[in-house]
Amino acid sequence: MSTRLSPSMTPDTQFFWDGVREHRLLIQRCCGCGALRHPPRPMCPRCNSVVWDTVESAGRGAVFSFVMPHHPQYPWFEYPYIVALVDLDEGTRIVSNLVGVAPDDATIGMRVEVGYEHFDDGLVLPMFRPVVAS
Ligand SMILES: [Zn+2]
Repeated sequence: MSTRLSPSMTPDTQFFWDGVREHRLLIQRCCGCGALRHPPRPMCPRCNSVVWDTVESAGRGAVFSFVMPHHPQYPWFEYPYIVALVDLDEGTRIVSNLVGVAPDDATIGMRVEVGYEHFDDGLVLPMFRPVVAS
């Protein structure tokens, strides 16, 4: 695939991107109250604990909302593309891209599952595509 602007990676988010490189979707879990949170951050917004571990998401969920950015156009995206908010089955929400579906066919509530897209510069990003009914 082509290149893509890399997300900012910080000590707080490094575990997430390390997991993505291994094709694992790791979600931060508070050790104080058990709440999941994403994107990763140092302190639990519910109980203020700074102690946390991770759970591995099964990578399935439903589209909560989505948009298709049109302007301004950047060279590191192929247009049209879909930015989706996905409600993971584990109970937290993640911003990602929706791929493998025509923009006109994307719907709220659509069941999706994660896949991993590799870019030329070594970047790996989680992206969601519709679950294929079997
Ligand atoms: Zn907590």
